[in-house]
Amino acid sequence: MATLFIADLHLDPSRPQITALFENYLASDEVRHADALYILGDLVEAWIGDDDDAELPQRIATAIRAVRDAGVPVYFMVGNRDFLLGETFAQRAGLTLLDDGTVHEIQGRPTLLMHGDVLCTDDVAYQNVRRQVRTPQWKAQILSMPLEARRAFAAKAREDSRAHTGTTQESIMDVNADAVQQALRDAGVTRLIHGHTHRPAVHSLELNGEAAERIVLGDWYEHGSVLKVTHDGVELHGLAVT
Ligand code: MN
Repeated sequence: MATLFIADLHLDPSRPQITALFENYLASDEVRHADALYILGDLVEAWIGDDDDAELPQRIATAIRAVRDAGVPVYFMVGNRDFLLGETFAQRAGLTLLDDGTVHEIQGRPTLLMHGDVLCTDDVAYQNVRRQVRTPQWKAQILSMPLEARRAFAAKAREDSRAHTGTTQESIMDVNADAVQQALRDAGVTRLIHGHTHRPAVHSLELNGEAAERIVLGDWYEHGSVLKVTHDGVELHGLAVT
């Protein structure tokens, strides 16, 4: 049996082929026969609230609900694009919400699960914005705005994000090695799975003289990307757009 991980799909009406790929994958034997499916953030390009009446959130809820109804638990951790996703949508879709930094036993091994953005400590400007927008007050204020105003706000935030990533050094936007070590130590585990950086890889590292690993999930911009964890090991594989 296998446990499956995806992240950084950035689903958006502008890339309908990726939404179709997501729906087809969730209906596939690999997912329907899995022990569990984990979505580690940035499932969508922008989430403006669980009350969004657009088509995409409805399609996502339907696709995930069917997996859940087939007996496969689906876990979700918010990313920096969908941190306004809450319990209302989770209930509708049959998702179990996880806090960033949760440790779950995955195929017999305690594993630290993160979206990954908190590990990018070198990006001070980003971390400052993150702190500001994650407060309950800020979230409540945004969610009290009319849907149209929130759509405009999300579009502006995406523009700002593009401007920031376009002018910030690649290395600054990757995880900080000390932050990774600290996160693993704090959690007391030797395996970390995260997304966010869009740099899929299995990194070996040493933690207090012990072998540890950091597994990074890939994005879904051009094709799909899945991590399959079994008792025997881990495997990152792609999914072609058909
Ligand atoms: Mn992200």
